Amino acid sequence: MNPADTPTLPRLAAYTTLRLGGPARRFVAATTSEDLVEAVRAADAVAEPVLLLGGGSNLVVGDAGFDGTLVRIATTGWTREGGVVQVAAGQNWDDFVAALVEAGLGGLECLSGIPGSVGAYGCEVAESLVELDLYDRVTGEVRTLKADELGFAYRTSILKGTDTGVVLTVRFEVREDGLSAPIRYAELARTLGVEIGERVPAAEAREAVLGLRRGKGMVLDPADHDTWSAGSFFTNPIIPAVDVEATLARIGDPKTPQYPADGGVKLSAAWLIERAGFRKGHAGPGGRVSLSTKHTLALTNRGDATTEDLLALAREVRDGVYARFGVSLHPEPLLINCMI
Ligand SMILES: Cc1cc2nc3c(=O)[nH]c(=O)nc-3n(C[C@H](O)[C@H](O)[C@H](O)COP(=O)(O)OP(=O)(O)OC[C@H]3O[C@@H](n4cnc5c(N)ncnc54)[C@H](O)[C@@H]3O)c2cc1C
Repeated sequence: MNPADTPTLPRLAAYTTLRLGGPARRFVAATTSEDLVEAVRAADAVAEPVLLLGGGSNLVVGDAGFDGTLVRIATTGWTREGGVVQVAAGQNWDDFVAALVEAGLGGLECLSGIPGSVGAYGCEVAESLVELDLYDRVTGEVRTLKADELGFAYRTSILKGTDTGVVLTVRFEVREDGLSAPIRYAELARTLGVEIGERVPAAEAREAVLGLRRGKGMVLDPADHDTWSAGSFFTNPIIPAVDVEATLARIGDPKTPQYPADGGVKLSAAWLIERAGFRKGHAGPGGRVSLSTKHTLALTNRGDATTEDLLALAREVRDGVYARFGVSLHPEPLLINCMI
C-alpha cells in the first residue's frame, strides 16, 4: 500500500499538542513501516525536506509552517514474545503502557501519562529498551541498534536533534511478575507509601504516576489549557564544575535544589524560573500564552495564540533567569522553522 497523500495543506497546529504551527507543503501518513521508509526515501530522492511527526508533543513549529513533506508516523500495534515486547514507532505511548499494565506486564508504568509516540524518545526508556529498528537515511538501509549504542543521557540520545534515523519498531524488556520497576522518585515513593527501590503492582504505580502528573497539568486533557503545551519547555541546566561555586553564590540561597550531573551540577529550571520572579500562570503577549497555572516549566497556549506569542514568552523567561542568575536555559522541544 502506498502512503496516503492528502489533497489539502493541513496546518501543523492540528497535529501538535501546543496547537501551534503553520501549514506543511505536503502531507503523507504512513501506516506501515514499509510505507514509512518509502515516504522518507521518496522525499530524500528529490531532496525534499522531511519533518517526521509522531504525537506532536515535543514540537514547536513556526507560524510560517514547514516548507517540505510532513510524514506522519501512523504505525500502531505491539506483539510479545516472553519478556520482550515489540512495538511500532507510531504507537501512542500511553495507550501502549496502559495495555502492558492491563496485561500484567511491569517495567514501563512509571512512564505513564507521557504524550506522544513510542518512536520519538523524549522519555527515559533507557532501562527497559532492548533494541530498535531504524531506517538510516544516509545509507538507505534498515538496521538494528542495541540500547547501549543509543547514547542515552538526560533528555537525549544519539537520535535526538538529528533526523538521519527513522525509528520503525522498538523492543522493550517487560517484567512478567506484574510488578513495577523499582520506584526511583521520592515523590512517587511517598505517594505509594513505600521506600525508594521497592516494587509495587504495576497498576498501582501507574495510577499514582497519573495522579501526580495530572496535578502538574502533565497529562493531556483537551479541556485544560494548562496541558496545551510541549511539556517542560526548558531542560534543567547543567552547570560545569568550574562555574558551580560562582553560580551558587549569585543565586545566594543555601537551599538551591541541585543534583550531581555529568561534569558538574544540575539545577532545577522550574525553581530558577520561580526565583527569577515568574509565577505559575505568568502571562505572555495579550494573555494568549502563559506559564501553566500548575507548573512553571510548561509554556501553554491559552486558546488563540501564535507561535510567535509563545516564543516571546520563552524569551522573556530565558532572559529573566539569565539576568538574575547568569544561568542559560535551553528549550527542550524541537523548534522547527522558528527560534528563541
Ligand atoms: C503535557 C506533556 C507532558 C510531557 N511530559 C514529558 C515527560 O514527562 N517526559 C518526557 O521525556 N517528555 C515529556 N513530554 C514531551 C513529549 O511528550 C515527549 O518528548 C514525547 O516522547 C514526544 O513524542 P512525539 O511522538 O509527540 O514526538 P513529536 O513531537 O511528534 O516529534 C518529536 C521529534 O521526534 C522526531 N520523531 C518522531 N517520531 C520519530 C521516529 N519514529 N523516528 C525518528 N524521529 C522521530 C520528530 O521528527 C521530532 O524531531 C511531555 C509533553 C507534553 C505535551
